[in-house]
Amino acid sequence: MLIDPGHSPKSPGTIGCNGKHEYLYNDALAKAVAAFLKRKNIPTDLTRLNNENISLIERAQKSNENCLLLSLHHDSVQSQFLYSKSNIRGYCSKKAKGFSIFVSRKNPHYNESVRYAEALGTALLKRGLIPTLHHAEPITGENREILMPDKGIYIYDELTILKNAKSPALLLEAAVIVHPQEALISDTDEYRRIISEAVYEMLVNVK
Ligand SMILES: [Zn+2]
Repeated sequence: MLIDPGHSPKSPGTIGCNGKHEYLYNDALAKAVAAFLKRKNIPTDLTRLNNENISLIERAQKSNENCLLLSLHHDSVQSQFLYSKSNIRGYCSKKAKGFSIFVSRKNPHYNESVRYAEALGTALLKRGLIPTLHHAEPITGENREILMPDKGIYIYDELTILKNAKSPALLLEAAVIVHPQEALISDTDEYRRIISEAVYEMLVNVK
């Protein structure tokens, strides 16, 4: 298993409604999932250490045919839906909340990637998480093709890390951190434990 904590200190991703950068959410989640899987005796590596800056291609090249690459991110919405809060750095929106999962048809193991995505979506739903469908809206910046709406699975062929991976690969947007509630809920050990359990269940069910 290869876990990719999305973004880096130099390219921090979106900013949550609480003013916290996305890469910090990604780092904490990646660390929790990796620790959980190691306790289950599943060999697990990370593409990036905490303060490392590494390109998407380099991350993808760390995969090999025997692993699954799971890139972990936290989500936002288009800028027209964001409002700023005067007392903190963050931008907020109640436009969307929930998880989404992306796969690329350009990945050399596309069918297997879809099997993993389906198992992950199922495991997240079972734990009470809900998918967000806002990436399928017919507006600039979204317009993603949705493969399984009930499980929040989208096709995004050009995602660099997915199409360049040598292994099956998925990208999980674990929560929409511009949403005031999700910014807080997804920054807890409890939320990270739920995601970790779902990832483990996915691996057990696809093997
Ligand atoms: Zn991201």
